Amino acid sequence: MKPYVLPELDYDLDALEPHYSRQTLELHHGKHHAAYVKGVNDTLDQLAAARASGDMSSLVGLEKTLAFNLSGHVLHSLFWKNLAPRAGGQPAGELAAAIDEFFGSFDAFRAQLTAAVTSVQGSGWGALSWEPLGKRLYIEQIYDHQGNIGQSGVPLLVIDAWEHAYYLQYQNRRPDYVAALWNIVNWDDIADRFGRARDLVLIGAD
Ligand code: MN
Repeated sequence: MKPYVLPELDYDLDALEPHYSRQTLELHHGKHHAAYVKGVNDTLDQLAAARASGDMSSLVGLEKTLAFNLSGHVLHSLFWKNLAPRAGGQPAGELAAAIDEFFGSFDAFRAQLTAAVTSVQGSGWGALSWEPLGKRLYIEQIYDHQGNIGQSGVPLLVIDAWEHAYYLQYQNRRPDYVAALWNIVNWDDIADRFGRARDLVLIGAD
């Protein structure tokens, strides 16, 4: 059974500048994301030890720690793919049409996702997700890495609202960070995820 590993970035550490600084990306990926990878692997080891010993007295805490670290690893892995140098703009094709259908317009969608990110209380994320039961796009506001979400959402575009994501470069100005991030959103990646998510059958017989 292979452990989780920190994924390599698809671009150089300074490739997202000026919108996202080299120092921020280096620490965010190399330290913060890496800590979630270590956290999920360590927790899985502890769960294996609990099974081996038959002592489940720590299970509740371990399951919470697993959810936190695994979700942190998933969201950061997706976040790096969602960004690219010389990107931004607006989506095209079926994703653009779906955003219009479910949010009214691209501008209305962007305003809602921006608000979801900027208004997180404490640490969390905003996400554009696909809901496979109702076959809809919707926006999630995620607390920490795993709170305030349902069971069905497939995240397509996630934006980190933790202070570690922006404080070095933007200090307390989270809205400025989000505004800059729209310039490096990789719509090709998100459109590809959208195409695959739509094929997911969550329950069946729908
Ligand atoms: Mn982060």
